[in-house]
Amino acid sequence: MKPHEHTAQFGTVDGELRIGEMPLSRLAARVGSTPFFAYDRAHLDARIDRLRSTLPSRIELSYAMKANPMPAVVQHLARRLDRIDVASGLEMLTALDTTMPAARVSFAGPGKAPAEIRQAVAAGIIVEVESTTELRRVIAAGDELGVTPQVAIRVNPDFAVKGSGMRMGGGPQQFGIDAETVPDVLREFGGSGLDVLGFHVFAGSQNLNAEIIAEAQRRTVELIGDLAEHLPTELRYVNIGGGFGIPYTERDRPLDLDAVGASLHELVGGPIAERIPSEASVVIELGRYLVGESGVYVTKVLDRKVSRGTTYLVVDGGMHHQLAASGNFGQAIRRNYPLIVGNRADAASDEGVTVVGCLCTPLDLLGDAVELPAAEIDDLIVIFQAGAYGLTASPTAFLGHPAPTEVLV
Ligand SMILES: *Cc1c(COP(=O)(O)O)cnc(C)c1O
Repeated sequence: MKPHEHTAQFGTVDGELRIGEMPLSRLAARVGSTPFFAYDRAHLDARIDRLRSTLPSRIELSYAMKANPMPAVVQHLARRLDRIDVASGLEMLTALDTTMPAARVSFAGPGKAPAEIRQAVAAGIIVEVESTTELRRVIAAGDELGVTPQVAIRVNPDFAVKGSGMRMGGGPQQFGIDAETVPDVLREFGGSGLDVLGFHVFAGSQNLNAEIIAEAQRRTVELIGDLAEHLPTELRYVNIGGGFGIPYTERDRPLDLDAVGASLHELVGGPIAERIPSEASVVIELGRYLVGESGVYVTKVLDRKVSRGTTYLVVDGGMHHQLAASGNFGQAIRRNYPLIVGNRADAASDEGVTVVGCLCTPLDLLGDAVELPAAEIDDLIVIFQAGAYGLTASPTAFLGHPAPTEVLV
């Protein structure tokens, strides 16, 4: 997708990008300082409406909070979604501060600290166990607290999903319990001191291919259907993962959500109806697809300089706030994230420039040879697709600049 297509998703007003009905410069004045992240409620709501109208009603939507743990965003989503997935004790507290019931919060991730496990068990959160050590710790926490822990087994599937930006299942993994060992694990641990609700399979992330997602979902339902025969109780929780991607670079095409929806309708009407009890929750867990496109990172031009024929725009932000846009968040090949001059959103792009952050490293590159309208000092550079894995996935302490503000508008 091209930058102007991202601009169109927000719209313009008075020649500027529109965020939360305001022209960008008015929002910047309100925030009071740059850089800042802004997340747009209307955009978030439109995304949720689109998911709800496209996916079968049987599907529950969970928010994987690590994508954007800003409390205001989590509060907003908690009122609109069915579940929240957390990955740390702090995220757990943020989730418990919302209206979401604890029984609808799940806790996944390798290396849960014993204290975090105790906190989750005490709160009545579903612990998605990733190893037998974690199972033992959960049982111990339940004994100590006099409660029956609610557990789901995170399964490392016996298949891999190709085409994911990040593969988190298949082959050896730090995530989940290997599928072929789950029957033995259930025999050993499933009987007492635990309530095993079901299973969670998360095969990969940032997938833009609807067919591959559909195939992973089919195989996940098959696998969970097989594993459920080894459960001591009825299957009640089926988390089939997510991995829906968003387009970050000009080469990326948006995910065909209608195709994902169509195949899920078939899955719900066929294999899920046949193999999964009708009372069981069937959950899809999304992070970036829910929030990623709703957020922008806004940074101001501090300097404009020419070096041997290349024009540089030096901005007051950089990779310390929005690491992914610099290409250093696990990307194999660096490609520009979509960016515009937000206060000149309707102007023609007629200048080739390189946009760099304010850190003393050549890694702090935000726009490599991009076409923009001629930008001046104090203009506002907007980087799109900043709503997920932005601020909290960035090395904010590097060079000691102040933290940016975050606003939900
Ligand atoms: C990170 C994570 C997600 C969210 O991934 P996105 O790519 O942001 O959708 C979902 N489930 C689990 C288990 C995760 O670790």
